[in-house]
Amino acid sequence: MDSMLEWSRAAWRRHLPNVPDINAFVRELGDGTIHGLAHATAIASPDKVAVRLGHEVITHGELDSLGGRHAASLGISPGDRVLLAAPVSLSWLGAYLGILRAGGIAVLANPAYTQAELEGIVKAAAPALVLREISRPDAEPQPWNEHAAPDSVALLAFTSGTTGKPKGVPLTHRNLLISIRAAMAAWRWKRYDRLVHALPLFHQHGLGGLHATLIAGSSLHLLPRFEPEELLRAAEKATVLFAVPTMYQRLEGKPAGDRLRLCVSGSAPPSRAVARHAEEVLGRAPLVRYGTTESGLDTSQVISDPPADTVGIPLPGVELRLGEDGEIQLRGPQVAAAFVESDGWFRTGDIGRLDEATGHLVIDGRTKEMIITGGMKVYPREVEVALEAHPDVAEAAVAGLANERWGEQVTAWVVMRPGAPFDAGRLIEHASTLLAPYKRPKEIKRMESLPRNHVGKIDRRGLR
Ligand code: AMP
Repeated sequence: MDSMLEWSRAAWRRHLPNVPDINAFVRELGDGTIHGLAHATAIASPDKVAVRLGHEVITHGELDSLGGRHAASLGISPGDRVLLAAPVSLSWLGAYLGILRAGGIAVLANPAYTQAELEGIVKAAAPALVLREISRPDAEPQPWNEHAAPDSVALLAFTSGTTGKPKGVPLTHRNLLISIRAAMAAWRWKRYDRLVHALPLFHQHGLGGLHATLIAGSSLHLLPRFEPEELLRAAEKATVLFAVPTMYQRLEGKPAGDRLRLCVSGSAPPSRAVARHAEEVLGRAPLVRYGTTESGLDTSQVISDPPADTVGIPLPGVELRLGEDGEIQLRGPQVAAAFVESDGWFRTGDIGRLDEATGHLVIDGRTKEMIITGGMKVYPREVEVALEAHPDVAEAAVAGLANERWGEQVTAWVVMRPGAPFDAGRLIEHASTLLAPYKRPKEIKRMESLPRNHVGKIDRRGLR
């Protein structure tokens, strides 16, 4: 184990060869709050464009004062939770910053969630306020006053647990700041960077890009949905691109610009084919990073290294070890305290090993059964529960099938009740009333019985 700690620390030096005292450097990354650093940026660069979204733009100064107006009109107290489940817009950004500025905790959810899904989150998060639409605040900006501390919870980030019940991850400003700033340092993020992405802001991957922009005083071109041509066109003027492997795979053509200095890929396993394709289209292979909602950004390939089939090495501040079963375990100031076990380590549920050629981490699979489809996480149990709610279904099992377009395709196997007719289309329709589009099974197959292991658990590998 000690050798893995040494390996982790050597990794920090590989990412930041010019920082003499990396421990002190990492500690300082956590001082502050997200909205506090955004406010400092707004004072330093008020007129610089912070975010472009469609035909609208907002400067750092305007965004900061919009956040202040939302903070004044929300009527919440420090520590209150606010569920933000609205489509992305400049107002969404203002409301998000307003919640933090008022000392509140932002609970971010997919606006495409059905009522039933949102109710699950409301039950778990007990928000003081739910925002499904955001109206223009008529209040004057709240005068600047810091209502939060680095160790205040900023986000209750939701991942649905393997049981299908949503699980909130309390992340402090310090967790979030160290996570993104360590990556920014490793990726040489600068004020002049222009990031483009088409990722949702209710997930840490896309939200991290917003945080980096606010902290650095750089610019973000946000695409409200992924359209390959539009992303490629936007990439012409960008210096940094964030995307998931499915997106890289669907890009066709060549961007005219040569400003793009960094493409980052994460959230799902990369493949050689996708890396090669991205390199052809963009002129550079994506830099792979790995992280989880609970632990932030944890590993990254080194910015100057040649492309490889790995997820890189620990980012500054992250200690990584492999359990006996190969499970990746993490420790560090990025990790949500609530998810640390009594021995001080967070269990990721991912299975990893060190690649002999590069000495970098490779992910082989997951102990948890999560499906990653188009970069979005789907927990089989949640889809099974939805299908089993249909009166004709006796039982259902769900797993991801390897698929070129989606990475993994949500696929269901159902056992019908005796005498009940099987109609895959009707079952998918039924699932649509309970699940967001990306969670719905793309294919449903009929079975006489489900394969189970010796303790009665469904054998999802057997299904595949
Ligand atoms: P989430 O909490 O939604 O960010 O999901 C975290 C999970 O995504 C991890 O536990 C991994 O299974 C997976 N993941 C994230 N990044 C990568 C990557 N670069 N390669 C493989 N899997 C990844």
